[in-house]
Amino acid sequence: MKYDYLIVGAGLFGAVFAQRMTEAGKRCLVIDKRAHIGGNVYTGNIGGIDVHTYGAHIFHTSDEEVWAYVNRFARFNGFINSPVAVYGGARYPLPFNMNTFCALWADVKTPEDAKAKIAAQTMGYTPKSAKNLEEKAISLVGYEIFEKLIKGYTEKQWGRDCRDLPAFIIERIPLRFTFDNNYFNDKYQGIPVGGYTPLIEKLLDGCAVLLGTSYSDFTAKHGCAADRIVYTGAIDEYFGCRLGALEYRTLRFETEKIDVPDFQGSAVVNYTERGVPYTRIIEHKHFEGGDQPFTVVTREYPEVYREGMEKYYPVNDEKNNALYARYRELAKKERNIVFAGRLGSYGYFDMDKTVRCALDLAASESMQKQTPDPN
Ligand code: FAD
Repeated sequence: MKYDYLIVGAGLFGAVFAQRMTEAGKRCLVIDKRAHIGGNVYTGNIGGIDVHTYGAHIFHTSDEEVWAYVNRFARFNGFINSPVAVYGGARYPLPFNMNTFCALWADVKTPEDAKAKIAAQTMGYTPKSAKNLEEKAISLVGYEIFEKLIKGYTEKQWGRDCRDLPAFIIERIPLRFTFDNNYFNDKYQGIPVGGYTPLIEKLLDGCAVLLGTSYSDFTAKHGCAADRIVYTGAIDEYFGCRLGALEYRTLRFETEKIDVPDFQGSAVVNYTERGVPYTRIIEHKHFEGGDQPFTVVTREYPEVYREGMEKYYPVNDEKNNALYARYRELAKKERNIVFAGRLGSYGYFDMDKTVRCALDLAASESMQKQTPDPN
């Protein structure tokens, strides 16, 4: 059967794009090399607890259209992300706000006290003069917050010392001078009731879906099955990495069921010391307020990407961005294919941005009636 669209990747981008085009009367085939839909937002289930298999996913947005759109397919609970950081056995509320400052410094009582304390700890560094990530962070939040709550976590994430990381990686570090532990500033926030998998199922309703099938296997078997392709896999892989491989960081997840009703009292606890090998522990039941007598936790270990692993975070430094730009040039020469989503665009996008980009692509496809090629 010939389709209007072959969508490579049943992740959030592919699913939203497929829903929009199906609604517009197009025939869509969605394929994915994984055995399940949802890509990285997929939620599994252990004993009735929805498990964020590829890392904690909290939906947050200020985009009214995106929020209205996702609410057509899921009911969102009122989860508010209020993570906790552990350093030296002490617990500090995140994001950096008055609760954090008061936990760090007994003599800080007011926002003015906190501002003065931070200003006195910048060691003469300024954001402009900072030569590396360490100096930039100290210039923004002072020595103590950097040392206790940023340094070890960042070094584990990137696998490098903060003095060896470029300053441009951080543009700003939000400081809040109110007593407010809500991590996000967005207007809307929550987790779909029942997890993300049912949301993706609803989005894909009415589309043909083929799982456990990579693009190369599919085309080897079926040739060109659609007039147009939306490719949400890695752009360098599509071209056989002929210009070189783009770099990524990956994560290893260790999930265990534990026979206690509550392990850590919070969905997300960050471990900010370098000596602790994982960056955070997720306790999944807190995303939805489960009352089971047991719990499920996942430890996240950042690792160097090696072939065959999942590509989680693009390394958007100058070298890799330049290589990606060369792949974009190659992409322009391809006919009837659009590279999209986080892997196709070699960028990190929160879920709301992913939905926004998929909605925009669907709108522009509908307007262009397939010509000219947007690459
Ligand atoms: P993906 O989910 O990666 O989907 C791409 C799909 O394409 C995959 O299923 C893959 O198997 C498939 N594919 C790739 N190549 C091929 C091929 N050759 N053939 C067939 N199939 C292929 N966002 C938030 O808003 N809040 C959060 O709290 C949050 N937490 C995150 C935590 C982690 C650890 C990570 C990595 C991301 C997080 N995000 C979060 C971002 C969110 O995961 C992304 O916005 C979203 O998953 C992007 O969807 P996508 O469809 O572009 O990519």
